[in-house]
Amino acid sequence: MFPFPLGKDALEAVAAQYGTPFYLYDEKAIRANMRRFTQAFSRFPAFREHFAVKACPNPYMLKLLADEGCGTDCSSLPELVLSERAGIRGELVMFTSNETPAAEYRYAAKLGAIINLDDISHIGFVEQALGAVPELVCFRYNPGPLKTGNAFIGKPEEAKYGLTREQIFAAYADARKRGAKRFGLHTMVASNELHEEYFVETAAMLFELSAELKRALGIRIEFVDLGGGIGIPYRPGDQPVDYERVSLGIRAAYDRTVVPAGLDPLAILWECGRPITGPYGWLVTRAIHEKHIYRDYIGVDASMADLMRPGMYGAYHEVTVAGKESAPKTKVYDVVGSLCENCDKFAVQRALPEIAPGDLLVIHDAGAHGRAMGFNYNAKLRCGELLLREDGSVREIRRRETLDDYFATLDFSGLDSFR
Ligand SMILES: *Cc1c(COP(=O)(O)O)cnc(C)c1O
Repeated sequence: MFPFPLGKDALEAVAAQYGTPFYLYDEKAIRANMRRFTQAFSRFPAFREHFAVKACPNPYMLKLLADEGCGTDCSSLPELVLSERAGIRGELVMFTSNETPAAEYRYAAKLGAIINLDDISHIGFVEQALGAVPELVCFRYNPGPLKTGNAFIGKPEEAKYGLTREQIFAAYADARKRGAKRFGLHTMVASNELHEEYFVETAAMLFELSAELKRALGIRIEFVDLGGGIGIPYRPGDQPVDYERVSLGIRAAYDRTVVPAGLDPLAILWECGRPITGPYGWLVTRAIHEKHIYRDYIGVDASMADLMRPGMYGAYHEVTVAGKESAPKTKVYDVVGSLCENCDKFAVQRALPEIAPGDLLVIHDAGAHGRAMGFNYNAKLRCGELLLREDGSVREIRRRETLDDYFATLDFSGLDSFR
C-alpha cells in the first residue's frame, strides 16, 4: 500500500553517509510508472507528458524523465533554465505561466518553447515583447461556471487563470490575424483529483471547443493540453487513478468528437507533476526527541520547512518507521518538526508503532510538491535530495543547504560601517 524501496539496514547506511533529513527518489519506480502512463496513452496518434517542473525542480529528475519521453512544463525563468540545462528545449517545453514578465516570454521564445497565453491581452503583450506573435500559440481556457472545479482547485469562475469562453474565440482570431499559424488549447481545472471521469469530462470539453473553433473560425487546433491535476492516493484506502481507464474514456470522446470534426490527428498533452514523482519520493527523518505532556510527541530532525503540505493544508502523509513497518500501532503521537509554529506537524494524533529517539521515520508520497515547496523560515536550512538508481546505488542529486547558502544574499562586511 505504501511501498518504500529500502530495508532498515540499507536505509541506516544511507543515513550514515548523507545525514538526515533527506529526500529519496526511486528511479526504477518512477521509470516504471512513466512507462505505464505512456503506454496507456499510446492509443492516441500523438501523446506527450510535459512534467510540471514545479513539482520536483531537479535537473537530474528532468533528464531521467526526458529519457522516458517527457518534456517539461515551466512557469518561470528559473524553471526554463532548469529545463534547458537538462537538455530539454523546443516544443518539448510548455511555458504555462501567468502574470509573466516580458523577459520570461523572450527566454521561452529563445528556447523554442510552446507559449501558452493566460489572457487575451497577452497576445499584444507577447507581440511587443518578442517583436511578433509566435507561429505556434496556445491559450489557457477557463470554463467558468460551465465546469465545476474540484475541491482542491476551487470554482473555475473564482480562479485567476485563463480566458473566458467568449474571449477564447476572439483570441484565436486575433492571434491568427497577427501571424500565428499553429494552435493549441489548454485547460487545468483540478488538483489532486482521483476520479477518472473528471479527466474524461475535461478532455471532452476541450474536444468540443476545438470542434467549435474549427466551425466558427476555420482554425485547426493541433493539440489539447489537459494540464495536471491527476491525484495520488495519499490516504490509506484511496484508490490510485487508473491511467488505462482515463485513456479509454478520453479515446471514446475523441472518436465521438475529434474524428467527425476532421481534427484527427489531434495530440494529447498532459502537464502532470504529482502522479509522476509523488508516490516515488520520501522524506526520511530521524526521531530525536520524545515528549509527553497533554499529548505524546515525537520530535524529528526535519520540519515543515522541508515539507510544508501537512502544515499548510492539513494534508495527510503516511508515516512509517524503519524496521517497524508491521509492528502493531499501539501509540498515538503528534510527529512534529522544530519550527516555532504549532502547525509544524507531519502527523496529528496518528496511531503509530512505539517510536524511540534514533528511529528513522519515512514520510511517504513526498516526491512531488515536497522539497520544492520548502522554505527557510526560522533560518532552517533545507535538506538535500538523493536518487536511488536502478542498480541500487545512491546518488546525491542535491546537497543539503549550508550556512553559507543561507547567508549568500547578505553582505556582512557592510556591518562595520553601518551606524
Ligand atoms: C501545478 C500545475 C501543474 C501540475 O500539477 P500536478 O497536480 O502536480 O500534476 C500543471 N500545470 C499547471 C499550469 C500547474 O499550475
